[in-house]
Amino acid sequence: MSFDELRAELEQRQSASLYRRRRVLESAQGTEVQVDGRRYLAFCSNDYLGLANHPEVIRAMHEGAERFGVGGGASHLVNGHSAAHHALEEALAEFTGRERVLLFSTGYMANLGAINALLDKRDAVYQDRLNHASLLDAGLLSGARFQRYLHNDADSLAQKLERTSARRRLVVTDGVFSMDGDLADLPALSSVTRERGGWLMVDDAHGFGCLGRGGRGIVDHFGLGQDEVPVLVGTLGKAFGTAGAFVAGSDDLIETLIQFARTYIYTTSMPPAVAWATLASLRLLEREDWRRDRLASLIRRFRDGCSGLGLELMDSPTPIQPVLVGESDRALAISAALEEQGIFVTAIRPPTVPAGGARLRVTLSAEHNEEQVDRLLDALDGARGAAA
Ligand code: PMP
Repeated sequence: MSFDELRAELEQRQSASLYRRRRVLESAQGTEVQVDGRRYLAFCSNDYLGLANHPEVIRAMHEGAERFGVGGGASHLVNGHSAAHHALEEALAEFTGRERVLLFSTGYMANLGAINALLDKRDAVYQDRLNHASLLDAGLLSGARFQRYLHNDADSLAQKLERTSARRRLVVTDGVFSMDGDLADLPALSSVTRERGGWLMVDDAHGFGCLGRGGRGIVDHFGLGQDEVPVLVGTLGKAFGTAGAFVAGSDDLIETLIQFARTYIYTTSMPPAVAWATLASLRLLEREDWRRDRLASLIRRFRDGCSGLGLELMDSPTPIQPVLVGESDRALAISAALEEQGIFVTAIRPPTVPAGGARLRVTLSAEHNEEQVDRLLDALDGARGAAA
């Protein structure tokens, strides 16, 4: 068998400026990172609150490894559900105001597992057009009738919900849209969904820890709860600075997932030390409101600076602040020009975003400072000229 066909496909991707590359970080993740011996200022991590390198979280990770070992050892249902996992589930249930929580090893797996445990070909799933790939993949895999509604548009959703006789109707949305940074209109989406007898599932990967009282997330931000959003997903690899994810909801929902979610049943539990470290993140995140305040002030500074420079932003109140540039080659050229100046900002291109919607996805962290944001603004100003 020859791989010439694959080579041709790769070359085609390369010539369309769509090739993806990785860089090797020689330092810890953070606002400043080292690659090939050079230090860079980075605006591309999801460590929104700067907890990934926090000494208390690192200490908890050590302690967790000492107490529970390094690996989970087995799947949760076999012998891999440790006291560390259990304590984190209980703490997250209290934090989110839900009856129960179930941990998954990643957000991708939580979405895949939850949607596939709830739906099959007798059902229908409705997804925002801009939902994260893991939600879209999960919906397609489930075999349920799959429909997309217009971005954040409750009327478009209502029209689609009207025309179905499906057994179950699950409406699925990102809480904060991962490539645009805008907020899902949860009050409108939940009332349309409830009126028509559906369930609303929110993936709050980017809002959890950042929005709401004490970082309780987008559902709390809008003053909603388990009745309005019966299926809530949060991830722990972003604002929490660790890894993994969870689904929160009623006792019946969680028991259903334990019985039927294949990505829960057939995989090794997350390392218990990660759960132990996440408990430390949760304590910090609850008590240190200043991290969210600081983030909000950096977001304002960046947005004001961009509008002063005439750069096109999206309607985002979150740490995800994409600068729209249009074509992929231009996004790559600006990203490369920034890199020459010692700044990392990721160019996001189709198919992750729609054609013509290439952008520089700037993400801010409470660990950044004003001077670093100003440096980014200056560099963006220079780089867009260089790439014109
Ligand atoms: N949902 C959304 C909205 C995301 O942005 C991501 C990660 N980028 C995920 C789910 C997947 O989470 P994880 O990285 O924990 O698999």
